[in-house]
Amino acid sequence: MPGVEGEVAVLEAFRRSGALRHGHFELRSGLHSDWYFQCALLMQYPDRLEELCRKLAAKLGRVARDTGGPDVVVSPAIGGIILGYEMARALGCRAVFLEKEDGRLVLRRNFEICRGERALIAEDVVTRGGRVQQTIHEVKARGAEVTAIAVLVDRREGVELPYEVVSLLRARPRVWTPQECPLCRRGVPLEHPGSR
Ligand SMILES: [Zn+2]
Repeated sequence: MPGVEGEVAVLEAFRRSGALRHGHFELRSGLHSDWYFQCALLMQYPDRLEELCRKLAAKLGRVARDTGGPDVVVSPAIGGIILGYEMARALGCRAVFLEKEDGRLVLRRNFEICRGERALIAEDVVTRGGRVQQTIHEVKARGAEVTAIAVLVDRREGVELPYEVVSLLRARPRVWTPQECPLCRRGVPLEHPGSR
């Protein structure tokens, strides 16, 4: 599978769930791509997600030896809610999520992140990192400390984040501006799978 790297069992779990999709997609960024990760389809299957989160937690073990395990997993809604919950189960800590209010991700529902707590950021797919950056900001604004960023799919290209990113899949799908997109040129129907 060109441009997607990861353990065979992980790729297989994505593929069996229909979460790894090949076609012609408009990403949130407005760019076009021939791959799309619809992680919600994977998250239909608690057993598959539980297993993947155990693998991700094991990969984080190396980071945890330096920083200590997290007290809390913090993730941006909606994509991160179920993932954060399963990561917290695998790591034996609690999970809270941020949600949009007036266009910003904030902590609601009387959730608390306390001063001095160690927080793991969890997100399903990271591309430009905007949601992860907002989550880091909210954690640090409360005097808590970020241990690492755990993601199912890392599809960043030249985007730096201020903490270590641990991922199950590394994807470098080809992306094009609509003007340059060869799929547009061939008239392949465009799908708009992302949340807006
Ligand atoms: Zn296109």
